[in-house]
Amino acid sequence: MQTFKRAAELELKLKKYWEEGKSIGFVPTMGALHKGHLSLVKEARENCQLVVCSIFVNPTQFNNPDDLLKYPRAPKKDAALLEKAGCDFLYYPSVDDVYPNGTEYQLPFDLGHLDEIMEGKYRPGHFKGVAQVVHRLLEIVKPTEIYMGMKDFQQLAVVEKMIRDLELPVGLIGCETIREKDGLAMSSRNARLNEEMRNRAPVIFQTLQLSKKWIETYSPDEVKKMAFEKIRSVGLEPEYFELVDPHSLLPIRKEKDESSIVACVAAFANDVRLIDNMWIRNGH
Ligand code: AMP
Repeated sequence: MQTFKRAAELELKLKKYWEEGKSIGFVPTMGALHKGHLSLVKEARENCQLVVCSIFVNPTQFNNPDDLLKYPRAPKKDAALLEKAGCDFLYYPSVDDVYPNGTEYQLPFDLGHLDEIMEGKYRPGHFKGVAQVVHRLLEIVKPTEIYMGMKDFQQLAVVEKMIRDLELPVGLIGCETIREKDGLAMSSRNARLNEEMRNRAPVIFQTLQLSKKWIETYSPDEVKKMAFEKIRSVGLEPEYFELVDPHSLLPIRKEKDESSIVACVAAFANDVRLIDNMWIRNGH
């Protein structure tokens, strides 16, 4: 694996692959890697001729400065893990290299309602930052495919919309969520949980599973209420629990709706904010 700190050097290396029309799988990450990230790298390795990964803690997607400051960083360990998982090129840049003209510019792209619901509502500016960094990284790497996790379900929808609206020449591959044995979705943030909260955090997964059963009998509003109660019962504080249409991400409201449903949740374990989701009904 070769590591590049500068886009210009990476681009010089990639030129040959672009010209030869090779398939390039790209996995953007913010580092502190776990098996969830590595599953994306492995999938890219199995399907593409070249695998490019990035590690960049993007400041423009953090609405909370403290969260940015506390974001875990482990560059040496990450590089070893990426190499083992089959990454060819690692882009590990500084903020200036990603944003040589500053971070203030706006993309010609409207997030629409995606910016107003769930993560968009509670993390103002977050998805603007995500779209900005993914757009810039795609501009540098020019992959044929970008691999992203369904763990960040709304993020996937944002990137899908950006690719469609801006007609970017790249395929988006959504990969399944990798979990710990007790169901907790793997996340770099899990490292910040103390032992007590680590033991309680699987309630998020348990609640998502329960909501699969609840929705057979109860209305969406009742399921939301029951989910809040279940999560609170062990001392986590839910921020939202929404039942949404998997395509529009708009909330399911009707009692007898027959559509597919994805349950999306964000909850605080002390000051650690965890998110997860699960497809809880297959519609007709
Ligand atoms: P992050 O470093 O948190 O920005 O994540 C980088 C990529 O890894 C994103 O596409 C995430 O959706 C994906 N990812 C994070 N956690 C998981 C997981 N537990 N399973 C699968 N993919 C994940």
